[in-house]
Amino acid sequence: AEAQLRQVQKMEAVGQLTGGIAHDFNNMLAVVVGGIDLARRRLDGPRREVMAHLTNAMEGATRAAALTRRLLSFARSEPLLPERLDASILLAGMNELLDRTLGERIKVTTKLAEDAWPVFVDPHQLENAILNLAVNARDAMDGTGKLTIRTHNRKLQANAVGDIRAGEYLVIQVKDTGCGMTAEVRERAFEPFFTTKAVGKGTGLGLSQIFGFAHQSGGEVGIESEVGKGTTVSIYLPRTEAQASNVRTHPAMQAKAEE
Ligand code: ADP
Repeated sequence: AEAQLRQVQKMEAVGQLTGGIAHDFNNMLAVVVGGIDLARRRLDGPRREVMAHLTNAMEGATRAAALTRRLLSFARSEPLLPERLDASILLAGMNELLDRTLGERIKVTTKLAEDAWPVFVDPHQLENAILNLAVNARDAMDGTGKLTIRTHNRKLQANAVGDIRAGEYLVIQVKDTGCGMTAEVRERAFEPFFTTKAVGKGTGLGLSQIFGFAHQSGGEVGIESEVGKGTTVSIYLPRTEAQASNVRTHPAMQAKAEE
């Protein structure tokens, strides 16, 4: 069912491609062509002016490249290499990257459980998910703000969050003190290519990728948000049994152990 859902999401994404992304991409190309054209016409003019036009063109090209990169990785659905890991340790290792991404005006606080239940996920996907959430939080916070990243263990009943199955989960929460989402935005936030950001700023793929990641991992993702107060995104990942998952993924080793 999860694979199907992802397939449906992808088809929807492809359907919206022509309308949304191609449009954004064309706008970026227009910036590139316009900048080069202006620079050509002003070649005899002041050097600073020529440079400014060329810089504009380069920025347009850089944004277009970033857009196609994200699109490609979405379409390709990179192979998953899940492994047993401690999410608290992975997140602790991201501190520096997060500080750099969020800049000085946003204070990052982490509250990481020391006894976090192990999970079985692709570490790159998890890092990408957290980075995407951090960037969203930054975009939602004007001036100063606070970003809090927490992990904790939780036992959940079936459907306590979305379609979650009853069981034990490691919860990763990314909370910001930003602008929050209206009910409409909250409703559509997981749709591929849904974005409220300016042309070239958002692709609308971040949350849909996180949705896919959480579901593929047997978990869920939930959003709590209040306009003017802030947003909390929670990723729920099922607890994995240390031995069991290692043995399952390495049948060869299992055979050896039994000898
Ligand atoms: P993108 O960030 O490229 O727009 P996402 O899928 O990550 O794509 O997010 C979709 C939309 O959800 C955003 O355009 C924004 O309107 C809203 N959103 C996401 N995260 C937050 C947040 N932390 N605070 C407020 N709104 C958010």
